[in-house]
Amino acid sequence: MIIVMGPGHSVDQRDAAIKRIEELGYRVSPIIGVERTVLAAVGHEDKTPLQQLESMAGVEAVIPILKPFKLASSEYRDTRTAIDVKGAMIGDQHLTIMGGPCAVESEAQIMECGRVCRDLGVPFLRGGAFKPRTSPYSFQGLEVEGLKLLRQAADEYNLRVVTEIVSVNDVEPIQEYSDVMQIGARNSQNFALLKEAGRSRIPVLLKRGMAQTVQEFLMSAEYILSEGNENVILCERGIRTFETATRFTLDLNAVPVIKSQCHLPVLVDPSHGTGSWQYVTAMARAGIAAGADGVVVEFHPHPDKAVSDGPQSLKPAKFAQLVDEVTRLAQCMGRIVE
Ligand code: PEP
Ligand code: MN
Repeated sequence: MIIVMGPGHSVDQRDAAIKRIEELGYRVSPIIGVERTVLAAVGHEDKTPLQQLESMAGVEAVIPILKPFKLASSEYRDTRTAIDVKGAMIGDQHLTIMGGPCAVESEAQIMECGRVCRDLGVPFLRGGAFKPRTSPYSFQGLEVEGLKLLRQAADEYNLRVVTEIVSVNDVEPIQEYSDVMQIGARNSQNFALLKEAGRSRIPVLLKRGMAQTVQEFLMSAEYILSEGNENVILCERGIRTFETATRFTLDLNAVPVIKSQCHLPVLVDPSHGTGSWQYVTAMARAGIAAGADGVVVEFHPHPDKAVSDGPQSLKPAKFAQLVDEVTRLAQCMGRIVE
């Protein structure tokens, strides 16, 4: 339910409404505006109906949120959320580009990737230190050593780190060394991990599960939001279809669909979405044209030697071309490009 406090309401009236909502067993998330304040009441809807608040002083309306996701919904917040990651903005009118290798492999490799990002003005360095591999025999990542290398590269080149968390036990080191915590496709319905990310201090990049509907994806985001972390960035990274010509099918329908239902930033990952470097730039452009707030792209100094996802990794020169094309396209679309 959304409780709207009307123009001219007093702070006492607002506090009284919040107190009453909490007494009825709901959790309240307020958005305080200039004229109106919106109180989102989240809880089990079989509790006492909140309609009784309509008679309280200062309350303008009590409106049910029809979607099963509430804090993520555009009914809760009708403006687009922008997230500030150490001065780099994600969402609203901003264009975000994140780039880096699939996995952190060595100091030389990640430092080189950091240098490429810095030279291209790409503010986010991505790379997996903990890797969720389909096979237990594949490279599992450098773990904490990889986090330290990411941090070293980011500090050297003034970048922000984006890296994946695969276990609830790793929140502390990830928070220490990273600026954005990624929850990958394979963990998108790991509810214990989503809740833990919701209690963490840093923004979360949530990737869509490869078999998740848009609604299920937004419910995963709701898990994080409902634990108190408001900084959630969504990422469409391709879903499984009957098509085998590409690794996954980048579902660009999801971009406008999500944007019509949800206020959170939406990025597109054309690397996992296609699985082949040849298609990555075209689908990055397509993602921006569809209204995505940015792209997450894998590149590698030597894709032929990459320990994971080499076939979908761009060489730095191709990544530079992608950055140029995506930036010009975003400018045409009226986005703010820093
Ligand atoms: C990744 O970003 O390297 C990754 C494993 O992505 P996804 O979870 O989308 O497969
Ligand atoms: Mn990868």
